Amino acid sequence: MPNVQRDNASCDFGRLSTRPPRSVVRPSSVAEISALFREPAPQGALDALPLPRGCGHSSRGESLTDGIAIDMRGLATIHEVTDDRVVVDAGATWREVLAATLAYQRMPPVLTDYLDLTVGGTLSAAGIGGASHIHGTQAANVMELEAVTHAGQIVTCSPTRRSRLFDALRSGMGRQGVITKASLRLIEAPERVLSYRALYDSAAELIAAQGRLVADHISGQAKSSDFELKAVLYDAGGAPPEGLSPIDVEELTFTDFADRLSPDVEKLIELGEWGLPHPWGQVILPAARAAAVIEQTMAETTSADLGFGGVVLVKRFTPGSVPMLGAPSDAVLFALLRTASPGCRAVSEMLLANDRLYQRAAAVGGVPYPPRPLSN
Ligand SMILES: Cc1cc2nc3c(=O)[nH]c(=O)nc-3n(C[C@H](O)[C@H](O)[C@H](O)COP(=O)(O)OP(=O)(O)OC[C@H]3O[C@@H](n4cnc5c(N)ncnc54)[C@H](O)[C@@H]3O)c2cc1C
Repeated sequence: MPNVQRDNASCDFGRLSTRPPRSVVRPSSVAEISALFREPAPQGALDALPLPRGCGHSSRGESLTDGIAIDMRGLATIHEVTDDRVVVDAGATWREVLAATLAYQRMPPVLTDYLDLTVGGTLSAAGIGGASHIHGTQAANVMELEAVTHAGQIVTCSPTRRSRLFDALRSGMGRQGVITKASLRLIEAPERVLSYRALYDSAAELIAAQGRLVADHISGQAKSSDFELKAVLYDAGGAPPEGLSPIDVEELTFTDFADRLSPDVEKLIELGEWGLPHPWGQVILPAARAAAVIEQTMAETTSADLGFGGVVLVKRFTPGSVPMLGAPSDAVLFALLRTASPGCRAVSEMLLANDRLYQRAAAVGGVPYPPRPLSN
């Protein structure tokens, strides 16, 4: 079994802490993962159980362990695409999944804004995307999972078969077993999209519009002086969604739309911002209480609190049946995507601001996103 000592698995995208694993294993079969859980830990090793890792794009160290890190990118085959589903290894990225399904004009109903995340990684968080107001989270669009349990058993589970394990794995942050394969629902993919942009004066108006508008993909951002909404229609004519007064409209191929973050990511990499610490603060709020939390938080957030290129997402959505996420059924993702850029607030100050956000969210029945891992 390949065993690479101490690679970049010591840190994640958040770069808030360093935690070198005892070893990194990149399995090329499910049997190798099963063997990891069956092998006794070396004498004196007090580690936790082996922990799966996808692309390491977590931001609070969720993919870090001082035990064995399982590099899931070794298992990234797209097995089968049919009309209603795609069967993929958990280490495949959404970019790889989408490329395979688009060849058949099919797509997963919900894509994350950024495609270079693994299927196992986002199903372990939940996977919230611009279509989650219609289809729920990515975790709610799974038909079946194959997984390795902590006892080393290779099992399949679904909403009707071993449903408790199925519910524990989705949003389980890798602490309930290793997802090795997923059968994901597919829908028809559009060829082109029309993206309408509108501005609102308050969080309450943005959230109300997100709940009212009929569009295939809806996103929102809190900006320094207003709130921006983007409503996207798939393969539509020229009319904007009813009730929307857009300030502009953009036409894109679906492929460019799905991969819309790539140019920004390239720029951030070029500027050295991508490799800086990212003290992201993300919460899921009940829609009815979200506006007050957002307004209060934005009132105390300046550009120095967000860093260069900092973004604040506001997305109303319906989680679907994902018990481990613990989210309200009518929910708003409020995400302060901070970068500790030079000249901006220190990491410690950004983390303190996040703590205030988590407390504020908890007080109204909100939860952190991704969910806090139960152990490790
Ligand atoms: C630029 C960027 C954009 C993002 N956009 C979105 C977005 O639009 N929507 C959204 O919901 N999230 C988004 N995220 C957050 C992202 O969904 C999570 O951080 C996700 O967990 C990252 O996937 P990954 O493959 O990098 O997983 P990792 O960071 O490697 O792992 C994350 C967690 O999943 C567990 N895990 C990984 N693989 C498996 C597996 N096969 N079986 C069981 N557990 C596993 C790990 O143990 C860890 O706890 C974004 C993150 C970044 C950095």
